[in-house]
Amino acid sequence: MTASTSNRQIARVALDIPAHQLFDYRADDASAADIGARVEVPFRNKRAAAVIVELASASDAASLKSIGRVFRDSPRLSEETLSLTRFCASYYHHPIGQVVMLALPPLMRRSFPALSKPAGYSLTAAGRALSVSAINPRQLVKRRVLAQFQAKDWIPSEELLAISRRARTVVQELLDASLIQASDPPAVAATDAQPPKLNAEQWQAVEQIQRGGAGFQPWLLQGVTGSGKTEVYLALIADVLKRGDQALILVPEINLTPQLVARITGRFVSVPFAVLHSAMSPADRLRNWVLAQRGAARIVIGTRLAVFTPMPSLSLIVVDEEHDSSYKQQDALRYSARDLAVYRAKARRCPIILGSATPSLESYNQARRKSYGWAHLTRRAMNALLPEVSLVDLTREHATDGISPTVARALAQRLQEREQSLVFINRRGFAPVLWCGNCGRTEHCQRCSANLVLHARTRVLRCHHCGHSRTIPAACETCGMPEMLPLGRGTERIEQALFAHFAGARILRIDRDTTKRRGSWDKMLQSIKSGEADILVGTQIVAKGHDFPGLTLVVVADADQALHASDFRASEKLFAQLMQVAGRAGRASAPGTVIIQTRFPQHPLFAALRTHDYSAFADAQLEERRRARFPPFVYQALLRAEAHERAVVFAFLDRAARHARALSNGGVDVYDPVPGTMSRVAGKERGQLLVQCSSRPTLHVFLERWLQELRAAKSSRTRWSLDVDPTEF
Ligand code: ADP
Ligand code: ZN
Repeated sequence: MTASTSNRQIARVALDIPAHQLFDYRADDASAADIGARVEVPFRNKRAAAVIVELASASDAASLKSIGRVFRDSPRLSEETLSLTRFCASYYHHPIGQVVMLALPPLMRRSFPALSKPAGYSLTAAGRALSVSAINPRQLVKRRVLAQFQAKDWIPSEELLAISRRARTVVQELLDASLIQASDPPAVAATDAQPPKLNAEQWQAVEQIQRGGAGFQPWLLQGVTGSGKTEVYLALIADVLKRGDQALILVPEINLTPQLVARITGRFVSVPFAVLHSAMSPADRLRNWVLAQRGAARIVIGTRLAVFTPMPSLSLIVVDEEHDSSYKQQDALRYSARDLAVYRAKARRCPIILGSATPSLESYNQARRKSYGWAHLTRRAMNALLPEVSLVDLTREHATDGISPTVARALAQRLQEREQSLVFINRRGFAPVLWCGNCGRTEHCQRCSANLVLHARTRVLRCHHCGHSRTIPAACETCGMPEMLPLGRGTERIEQALFAHFAGARILRIDRDTTKRRGSWDKMLQSIKSGEADILVGTQIVAKGHDFPGLTLVVVADADQALHASDFRASEKLFAQLMQVAGRAGRASAPGTVIIQTRFPQHPLFAALRTHDYSAFADAQLEERRRARFPPFVYQALLRAEAHERAVVFAFLDRAARHARALSNGGVDVYDPVPGTMSRVAGKERGQLLVQCSSRPTLHVFLERWLQELRAAKSSRTRWSLDVDPTEF
């Protein structure tokens, strides 16, 4: 095709639609400075928000519409961020426009100018020249506001507005009179608080990473829980701040941000920072994003979405708890923020530190192959002793209601000594199954291939997959037997058992049901830390990264379910989880104890856990994976499909498999289509098809061609998507 529009300025824009392409518009007055800018464009008889990704001088399109408004006053995406989104779109085979929009804070995904609330204010020259005494004494609030500026050059908005209810009006008056101006927090290079003296291992890690230089170098920082990984990050961030650069720190959970923020602000007292996660108000998120994008925020702390934050002077990335599965998004764009962070560091030519007590086997293998640097922290910083891990063999000891006599004794002893305990069980609700002892009926979800979970506190049966809930039947609806029995146990049942065992003990249940309301988890954390709870019963929410100074005993109520799961990553995940939860015990002054209840005490996983030897476990796992041809020795992609009828799903997947085999020519392994692990969710049948290859480039060339065929073969009754490097099956 010949170019029908040439020698004109053409803007190629990203639109938030599921199309694997950019869209061309005439943009005669656009310049290179507009790349990354948001624009408004006419699209399908509507106005749509778009981002200019490239400029071109020719287009294949027959007739071009003109671009609408260019929001030159709003912040733009940098070339660096655009290239990250381009890589992300091509690696995950996801529509480019949707990736670009994801990289923007929600308020900037619309076709309006995005005005961010000012972070703070400072005096203008006129303001500085003005004396407070010149203000009419009756204008009390104005006087107080101006008086604040005599002590400080810059005042955060919240602080200024907190002066009085009239402060907002007064601030506006001062702005109108050009006495003050909105401004970003000033750069502060100094680190104000005295850092603790690093121990020998920490020093070694810091020096090792410093010696690696300022260029691209990935580091695996493998350090047992409580070994002071965070202190290593902080020491390296101090270098970044001294140079006047920016550091990006990713954490797996929103819940973990306040704790890290407290440590960072405690150390770098007046250094401007920005937090980014999805639970913030859109206005706060925009403001913090803008602070990062302008370079004013020196430290950016965020969850996986923060990996896209534009940072003009980025010179260090930290991914804390890098093994955590939350770094992989499990819907729409199924990206791994950890993997993108490594790509970003490479493009940016800066170091990246992946920290964990139980590294992912992917990162661990990279370190073993020496493609990543490897730093170790083998001892706890505060208390040299790692917790002692012991097992209770449930085939020998009977656990009434989930609590074995050994565990009951250990809990009683802690209560007596006024120390805290945690009983960990990774299942919420009262019991996962409601069963009729007479006819064997179980209550399951009508729309999902799953049992309904009994929630005793709210007196409902609830599906944990689609959210459907119903009342508890008074009698079996098949045979009329008057009472159905709860089988198995969740947090509520353990809580109840503990109440029965230990009258008067203060028991706190921590799971998604009790922490749903905003701020409730923070309150619970406070009461745990101030010793207002004796026994905690919790799911993985409590297992991750929190410091509980008074906790000396951790009980794992049931580890067996995960021990025999079909997912090849199940052992890796279980080990990480048990090591994490064990790490909660005895961090402060008292040594800790961990008791695991299991029917399989001989399982090799427990032997490694008892000696806290992650490397031994990881080496053995890697050897198994290598022999079985599993990641990280092969690269995988999973085609998922769903439809109302099973036959439709499998007709689609069978056809996809035939295409794949024809294309792969033996170079790529194509498995048979199988039902999803959950074969039915919310009324839809699910199936999946796995492909894998020992060469990543070969796999991606294959995927590109395969997807083209799948997209061309219109299948309106099936919804499908591709998951590159799947972590859940
Ligand atoms: P990790 O991130 O590896 O779990 P942290 O950095 O949270 O470990 O450290 C655990 C505890 O030890 C924290 O309370 C921290 O303040 C303390 N700590 C770490 N390193 C030192 C040190 N060199 N001197 C004194 N206290 C330290
Ligand atoms: Zn359901």
